[in-house]
Amino acid sequence: MCQYKGASCRRKDYKRKLCKDHFVKYVRTLLRKTIRALYLGAEKAFGAIDHTGLGYVTQDAFLQSYVAQRVPLTSEEINEYFFLENVYKDGDRSLIYDKFKNLFFPHLTMAGDEPEKKI
Ligand SMILES: [Zn+2]
Repeated sequence: MCQYKGASCRRKDYKRKLCKDHFVKYVRTLLRKTIRALYLGAEKAFGAIDHTGLGYVTQDAFLQSYVAQRVPLTSEEINEYFFLENVYKDGDRSLIYDKFKNLFFPHLTMAGDEPEKKI
């Protein structure tokens, strides 16, 4: 059963003792924290991951990035997250800057987003 923050969620667990929704939330939060701890802003982070200047980030490029090395998640978990969040849909194999920014540097007051501790 899902163990998200003390267990008010009773859904079936999917990964890491979390249900699908909470797994997505957990991975998203970890990725955001890691990216924000490493880079000063969305542009710097995007530029570092897209270091060859393609203008987009492929899933492979993300998985080979410093962020993926530093985040306490496996490549499988990151892939799973991208899949569940529909980040890389069929025929859309790259992450452009705007989407990247929305994903990892949303406005802090965005609905449904929990306040996060500054690292
Ligand atoms: Zn849950």
